[in-house]
Amino acid sequence: MAEAKAEVVVVGSSNTDLIAYMDRMPRPGETLHGTDFKQGFGGKGANQCVMSAKLGAQTAMVSRVGSDVFGKETIENYQRQGVDVQFVSVSETASTGVAPIMVDSKGQNSIIIVPGANNELTPAMVDDARALIQSAKVLLVQNEIPLESSLAALRIAREAGVTSIFNIAPGIERPSTDCIVLPSIVCLNETETTLATGMEVNTLEEAKQASQHLLNTGAEGVLLTLGSQGCLYMTKDTCVQEPAMTVEAIDTSGAGDCFIGTLACSMAQEPAADMATHLKRATRVAALSVQAHGTQTSYPRRADLPSDTW
Ligand code: AMP
Repeated sequence: MAEAKAEVVVVGSSNTDLIAYMDRMPRPGETLHGTDFKQGFGGKGANQCVMSAKLGAQTAMVSRVGSDVFGKETIENYQRQGVDVQFVSVSETASTGVAPIMVDSKGQNSIIIVPGANNELTPAMVDDARALIQSAKVLLVQNEIPLESSLAALRIAREAGVTSIFNIAPGIERPSTDCIVLPSIVCLNETETTLATGMEVNTLEEAKQASQHLLNTGAEGVLLTLGSQGCLYMTKDTCVQEPAMTVEAIDTSGAGDCFIGTLACSMAQEPAADMATHLKRATRVAALSVQAHGTQTSYPRRADLPSDTW
């Protein structure tokens, strides 16, 4: 087996998006003809990992897929993007995670996520990747695999002094203290922040108060992404705010994952740069992604970035 080593390691989900377009949503028991169909690679873990890889980071994924066509294609997609798949295991008992999505003519969507093999990613499998995680400059973890597995990865990083980001998405109501204190940075959007803290986040002032609440709970760093309002990063002695770029957004799906994947690449490759620099890059790349359709397909490569982006 090749030596396990990567700049950005992601312990997280792999899903296949199955998107059906239709004039209107079917009612219960009704069969309708759709107008178009698209298949895409998704899962928050996969998206963040592919984003880092597209920007040139040496990346590795710790994930689990089924022994079906979606699993095979997921692994091939990682390989095309240069992601190390040594720790992407294949289940014989569960299907690859899928997200059947219905989109009507008004752009409204309904999504069902069936986690499948993602639910089989155990703490023991994460432990198998211990050396890989210890080799990382940045570890990324989200909340689409069993929580004890996410925490196992964060514990390995904490013990090894590896910078880690826990993107608690989907959100958790009042997460345990471990979720807050183990990562170097807890990263949440507005709704995830409200779930975690019980505090409303509509304004920058409210975002600061919620961040302070998480810092008081023992967080080392708190990063809140605020959609078109940008982002806010706080530690006990720093506060950095980066406004979003004003652009014509046509598809914001996966913008948060683009932002985090870019941030991880920047932090891994230039650890001496300050947080404001990393956040500026993440903001600019995320703004590019919302101006194109799709999720991973809307993520730019390093060579395609305008010169003032990096
Ligand atoms: P979110 O997870 O939706 O908060 O988005 C993550 C980041 O993507 C934000 O902090 C922004 O930098 C960027 N972003 C999201 N939506 C937009 C938008 N409509 N226009 C420009 N940038 C955006």
